[in-house]
Amino acid sequence: MGSIQQQIKPHSRQQLSILGSTGSIGVSTLDVVARHPDRYQVYALTAHTQVQKLALQCEQFRPEVAVVGTAQAAVELQILLREKKITTQVTYGPEALCQVASASACDTVMAAIVGAAGLASSLAAAQAGKKVLLANKEALVMSGQLFINAIVENGATLLPIDSEHNAIFQCLPRDYQRQPDRHGVRKIVLTASGGPFLQRDVESLTKVTPEEAVAHPNWVMGRKISVDSATMMNKGLEVIEAHWLFATPAEQIEVVIHPQSVIHSMVSYADGSVLAQLGNPDMRTPIAYGLAYPERIDSGVAPLDLTKIARLNFEAPDFKRFPCLALAFDALKMGRSAPTILNASNEVAVQAFLDRKIGFRMIDQIIARTLDRVPVTEIQDLATILEQDRAAREVAEAIITS
Ligand code: NAD
Ligand code: MG
Repeated sequence: MGSIQQQIKPHSRQQLSILGSTGSIGVSTLDVVARHPDRYQVYALTAHTQVQKLALQCEQFRPEVAVVGTAQAAVELQILLREKKITTQVTYGPEALCQVASASACDTVMAAIVGAAGLASSLAAAQAGKKVLLANKEALVMSGQLFINAIVENGATLLPIDSEHNAIFQCLPRDYQRQPDRHGVRKIVLTASGGPFLQRDVESLTKVTPEEAVAHPNWVMGRKISVDSATMMNKGLEVIEAHWLFATPAEQIEVVIHPQSVIHSMVSYADGSVLAQLGNPDMRTPIAYGLAYPERIDSGVAPLDLTKIARLNFEAPDFKRFPCLALAFDALKMGRSAPTILNASNEVAVQAFLDRKIGFRMIDQIIARTLDRVPVTEIQDLATILEQDRAAREVAEAIITS
């Protein structure tokens, strides 16, 4: 996609901006970076509110710039850094995120902010022609073609970090260029663990707590994506993400439940071949792949021991148990701004669930009702996306408080 085949100079030290460095993906990225000081240098780190954690990261990685969410957080960080005699420049706010994502001193941007909050900075990195390591799937779901155009038109390189999409990327030919038909791609097969509620009695799902929902069987992740995994909206967002990354229509994207999370996804070809990427479920593998592409480096992940795993199971997803997955497929087929509305209403509903304002099974209902009420429009530019995002949030909030 875009200039995906662009060669990255193998041994010049890459300058990294890590957006969302205090999150689950951010911490895993820094773990890989710390293993390769000869290859990577941190230009910027960003966090929303976790100032203490960011200060410790600044102490270890000495970035030129650190960005936080508010003026207050910036003052707090400045004090902590001064005590440690660290000269990192401190800035704050959404504009500062876009600046570090597009700064000429930075080559590579890890886009690992969660949710719509990461859209502007991810887009800024694309527009500045950076190597964009995209973890923030919501940004691509919201902006679709606009994001892909920004990558292609500005000679940026887009490398998917989401483990499924990273797996698919590894199973496609290097010169794929978003052309499934030319390369005999029959189907993209996304694997899904099924989350913590795969076996649970459907009737009892109304009563699950946020603590139960965020306890994922195989992956340790941020709270929002953990709830998304429990509803399977995460897989729904990934279906839309796959559509944009690999240019496959909804009909050519299949979801298969695979509870062990060892096969991270597959590509099914016209000749009957199915290529898969396997590994232990640890995000450092796709992160290391993205950082070093097209080379391979140590990620710290233990090698896969298939005899210990012994079994790999598969089953079709139950759309009644997981209505969010069906809603995402519907939104993809509806097209235009429907995925933006889906994403925004999901973010609002998940937050309300985490805040104990609504029950677990209300999440899908709020999304369905928001999709019914907000008229779908064409997406022309960032302003239209932000307007659809705002409208959907307003409707979803109103449903919650009604
Ligand atoms: P997280 O909640 O652990 O971390 C989120 C990061 O974003 C934090 O650094 C936080 O400070 C920052 N942030 C939050 N709100 C912000 C705001 N309004 N402005 C600026 N920064 C803000 O989340 P995570 O699990 O690391 O996920 C990050 C992204 O990666 C998500 O889009 C998620 O879907 C995707 N992803 C995560 C995983 C995983 O294993 N965790 C796997 C695949 C994809
Ligand atoms: Mg994933």
